[in-house]
Amino acid sequence: MYAMSPANPTLLSPRTKRPIPDRALLLERMKSRESDDRALVSRAYAFSEHAHAKRQRFSGEPYFVHTFSTALYLAELGMDARTIAAGLLHDVLEDEEIRAATLENEFGKEVAFLVQGVTKLGTYKYRGLQRHAESVRKFLLAVAKDARVLIIKLADRLHNLETLEHVREDKRRRIALETLEIYAPIANRLGIGQLKGDLEDLSFPYVYPAEYAATVGLRKQKGKENQKYLEKVHRSLQKELATAGIRPLATDYREKHLYSLYQKLKRYDMDIEKIYDIAALRIVLPTVADCYQTLGVIHSVWRPLPGRIKDYIASPKPNGYQSLHTTIFTGDGGIAEIQIRTAEMHREAEFGIAAHLAYKEGAGWRHGKKLGKKYAWIAELSEWQKNFRESAEFLENLKTDFFKDRVFIFTPHGDIIDLPDGATPIDFAYAVHSDVGNCFAGAKINGKLTSLETKLKSGDIVEIVTKKQCIVSPKWLEHVTTSLARKHIKAALQRNKKRA
Ligand code: MN
Repeated sequence: MYAMSPANPTLLSPRTKRPIPDRALLLERMKSRESDDRALVSRAYAFSEHAHAKRQRFSGEPYFVHTFSTALYLAELGMDARTIAAGLLHDVLEDEEIRAATLENEFGKEVAFLVQGVTKLGTYKYRGLQRHAESVRKFLLAVAKDARVLIIKLADRLHNLETLEHVREDKRRRIALETLEIYAPIANRLGIGQLKGDLEDLSFPYVYPAEYAATVGLRKQKGKENQKYLEKVHRSLQKELATAGIRPLATDYREKHLYSLYQKLKRYDMDIEKIYDIAALRIVLPTVADCYQTLGVIHSVWRPLPGRIKDYIASPKPNGYQSLHTTIFTGDGGIAEIQIRTAEMHREAEFGIAAHLAYKEGAGWRHGKKLGKKYAWIAELSEWQKNFRESAEFLENLKTDFFKDRVFIFTPHGDIIDLPDGATPIDFAYAVHSDVGNCFAGAKINGKLTSLETKLKSGDIVEIVTKKQCIVSPKWLEHVTTSLARKHIKAALQRNKKRA
């Protein structure tokens, strides 16, 4: 068994209760050994401890436990000193009436920028309208402006979930649901598989208690059996690999995260017998060639299940995940999944963007070229990550606005809809619902009636006025930019023509 972090291959064990605040421990977990970096974190530690001195968490613990835990996780992820300092300070603006200018004076522009970013993210609360979840995710990514802001927010959320049992029940559910639908998918987009899994598993029991209990039961029943097969395979495999002259860097037994097991069970009528990767054996090797050779060795000893061999090295998953997967008959009635990857692929799968943002020893932060327009969309983030995998020039690129060509518009209820730059109230109306578009009579932007060709700006609150008599005008086609609106308008005009 082992765990790897970008900072230190021996750290970052599965999450348990966080240790009590301890400056020496935090400094020890930091990747950077430079005295400036350590002094910065040390000062932020003292500042945060003092600023939160009078406040307590719902758990009754000192509030500082929370900001310390957030920072400790960031250190374990291998983040740089400024991000760790910002983790310590992330709640002082909101909760302790400390001014941003004070932070800037004490800790510099960058730390102040990161703290303000996290504070801004905190102002939006998701109320659980699933059709808008994707817009909310994009909105948060756009507001963050820097991936480190999101990583701090995710670390903050992780500790909040670990202590969620102390929070009022209605609030508890809202936070857990927001995590499942907004923050865990963001962690996934950023490629931080470990964090995504932890966020989901901590939220799961609060959002779906019955399903949680059922999944725990199913896993318990099947998990033990699986582990037995995997252990046997592991022993034989070590022998076979040694004979073939292959030396794995590490092998690891992993149990599928509970929430992702539940997602899979749902697709298979809750039949656990149909799920082969409840547990898997992971083999980490030095080179890609070793990976393919290991797959060959495995298949020469055990018969693979047809259709279960997956080459995500040649064809990575959309989020950049790479590995070879195979499922084998273990010979005693058992079935086992084996995942084969290089150390680099492993780091990438567990830590994603954090692995790239992690403090690079000696190099510090380096400045790179601005990203081109093709990175204007977060779906391309993983593509972008891949392109920069071999480069050390990350920081500047992360500050680029991914969303230059999108605007984020609020409904009167506070839901967010994202539209291309140049979109008008008619585009917005159709994005809400085709009926709202078809019955469009006018629009109020920030409370004022406006003409239908007005271009919407990010942050506008738009209310559509509809009428009973729905008449779609061909003129509207001149004032829309989304293909969705265009499609609905044309279809409505077509219907009218037929009727006439
Ligand atoms: Mn916080």
